[in-house]
Amino acid sequence: MKLFPQTLLRWLVLCLLSCLAGLGMASDQDVTDATPDEETSAPERARRIPVITYHHHLPQDLKMAGRYRDGSVTNSVESFREQMEWLRQNGYSSLKLEEFEALIENRADPSMEKKVLITFDDGYLTTLKFCYPILKEYGFTAVVFLITGRQPALAESRFLPEKLQYIARAQMAPASDVFEWAAHTHNLHSMKLNPSRSDLLVADDGALAEDAALSLAQLGQTRHFCFPFGQYDEQVTERLTHLGFRYFYTTGKGWAQPQQGRKIMISRLNVSPRMTLAGFARLFRDDT
Ligand SMILES: [Zn+2]
Repeated sequence: MKLFPQTLLRWLVLCLLSCLAGLGMASDQDVTDATPDEETSAPERARRIPVITYHHHLPQDLKMAGRYRDGSVTNSVESFREQMEWLRQNGYSSLKLEEFEALIENRADPSMEKKVLITFDDGYLTTLKFCYPILKEYGFTAVVFLITGRQPALAESRFLPEKLQYIARAQMAPASDVFEWAAHTHNLHSMKLNPSRSDLLVADDGALAEDAALSLAQLGQTRHFCFPFGQYDEQVTERLTHLGFRYFYTTGKGWAQPQQGRKIMISRLNVSPRMTLAGFARLFRDDT
């Protein structure tokens, strides 16, 4: 009850900002940050889940010295540690996929505990080499969406910071105490067939089924699928649903919304290399 006046005040501020936006007096940024989602009731907002996205990591000195200095998806290992520290200090625990499924489908009561689903796209070797030990130290788990066709069978003999290397198939089992593995296509994470459309969208039914089978042969059973480049349409989602996938990870920005049905579409929060720790913390504000 103590919070009520604050909540009321906040809504008044939000209403005022919405009015200003209507009059063209607030910037786009203000509107995006402040406008409440009118279709989401307060209890539903409480059930939304932050799903954060990472790609590639390098220690700051290696990052600044090399070709990924300005890379838009290469975060520093130091910032990753700071962010995991922030999550721990602020009482967050990470979700396993089974828990996430139950929460997103409203099959489990959301506890008061703060939850986050940590995801890594592509399955770079740096995810294993640098992020795995930090996650383990902090007691967090994460999901890695693997492009299985790029995985070497055995571990690379040498770490080459100037190259994009991938987690080897032989490295998966020993890291499964921290990582769960999910699909990011076997060999359709490119734009070979059309310069602006992912090969996933261009593949015919046979090619799609074959790719999914190859991917699942390496991953084991998973119903979690991340769209390459964030590109998807109704048709490909439907076809992937027929192949057994159910949880679809997009690059749509926002917290994952509870939903039911054959296809569960999941928005995520990208952690950009330019993000400060304060910016990272803002991702977890309940009006994000
Ligand atoms: Zn990707």
